[in-house]
Amino acid sequence: MKKLFVTTAIDYVNAPPHIGHAFEKFQADIISRYYRNLGNEVLFLTGTDENSLKNVRSAETKGISTKELVDINAQKFYQLKEALNLSIDDFIRTTEKRHVLGVQKLWQACQKDIYKKIYQGLYCVGCEEFYKESELINGLCPEHKTKPELVKEENYFFRLSKYQNQLKTLIESDKLEIIPSSRKNEVLSFIKRGLEDICISRSTERAHHWGINVPGDSSQKIWVWFDALSNYITALGYNENDKKFQEWWQGNDNILHVIGKGILRFHAVYWPAMLLSAGLNLPRRIFVHGYLTFEGQKMAKSLGNVVDPFDLVEKYGRETIRYFFIREFSSFEDGNFSEKRIKERYNSDLAQGIGNLLSRILALGEQYQTSLILKKNGLQKLIVKTEKIYHQKMQEFRLNEALARVWDLVNALDKFITEEKPWASLKNDQEKFEKDMATLIISLGKIALLIAPVMPETSKKILEDLGLKDVSEKEWANLKVQLKAREPLFPKLESRI
Ligand SMILES: [Zn+2]
Repeated sequence: MKKLFVTTAIDYVNAPPHIGHAFEKFQADIISRYYRNLGNEVLFLTGTDENSLKNVRSAETKGISTKELVDINAQKFYQLKEALNLSIDDFIRTTEKRHVLGVQKLWQACQKDIYKKIYQGLYCVGCEEFYKESELINGLCPEHKTKPELVKEENYFFRLSKYQNQLKTLIESDKLEIIPSSRKNEVLSFIKRGLEDICISRSTERAHHWGINVPGDSSQKIWVWFDALSNYITALGYNENDKKFQEWWQGNDNILHVIGKGILRFHAVYWPAMLLSAGLNLPRRIFVHGYLTFEGQKMAKSLGNVVDPFDLVEKYGRETIRYFFIREFSSFEDGNFSEKRIKERYNSDLAQGIGNLLSRILALGEQYQTSLILKKNGLQKLIVKTEKIYHQKMQEFRLNEALARVWDLVNALDKFITEEKPWASLKNDQEKFEKDMATLIISLGKIALLIAPVMPETSKKILEDLGLKDVSEKEWANLKVQLKAREPLFPKLESRI
């Protein structure tokens, strides 16, 4: 069985999760489920980044200890698993022992490229990163629009410059593939401007005594990004050199990082350089998604427009929310969130779309037992074509485009019912009736299989209603099914909210 290791970024826990976090988790989950359903062995990892200075400051404001703060918020991130129905296999917290020891081991493995020097620079706590004057916009951090702090310290540095050519070749040749290509070009131009060595520690004092100690020097804490990036291997048992680490990292050419565009440099430059230095295997692909804005504005706590994913799930149900995020937003571009669009999509795509289609087919099939013998027709050709394009889009991570194709099929089935009028042939042409019903049942069954990664619960319900559950697709043709009408799968929204 082919292995696939899928990761998301690990989240800062200075505040509870918002829908931006949910969006990334959905994408990684749907990719994981898609490949699992194809018969691959998938390991899906996520977790929390807890050693940041942001947590120390956030805890200070709240008057609680940093440990308390990270425990409370890490719990909320973990609860996304249930709330969003994420098929997560492992959840790592960077305050866990397996991680702390693994990070220190990786530091030692990179020792030949680590040196100490006195340094003065502009540091953004939000990014946990030093900026060059030239990278700032009007003197402010491009990501946070805040003024970075001037820091002067003796710190440890990592010889990133040494890996410039190697990284360039890896990315240019797609041995380390960055998707979409616009992001690949962005990384390449960053590398071509020249890589400078990076500061990978800070004084324990500046870290407020929070974080992972530099091995053999407790006056210094390891830089949060060196620490956080390591989670991808510490979770696999890098420190203990587990069989799991050997199988899922060292011997695996199918490692996928799913990240947001703001942390591309860390994943496509710093992280592979660290791995090269330590003599470890590299990730295979990095899938970079855009950001969500809220009704045209950046989502931020200070703007009071942060949308809570738990609220959305409570209000609309997790299947609807999963569908909405994947169908509504491009995989790669920024997207604009609005609740109005959830209602619109719900009504058009789910209530009047797939839900209504199921109701129509069940009502027709209630009247007569159908043998699922399929004769070739135009709809069948369309299904074969749709399946082909769907798989292609899914494998290019164009998840929204894959779903759009499936909904074209939903519409085509609706049209088929309206045009063929199976109810009219029930009395005088039972052969045609059965043929039409077989077409409809098998087609909707295939749709149910295609939506399974995105809407696993809905998929199961449809297969069950059609009498196709627990029967492999190859066996469908031998079945005789008797359908039974049911309550609408997606009742019209007005009646509920
Ligand atoms: Zn920043």
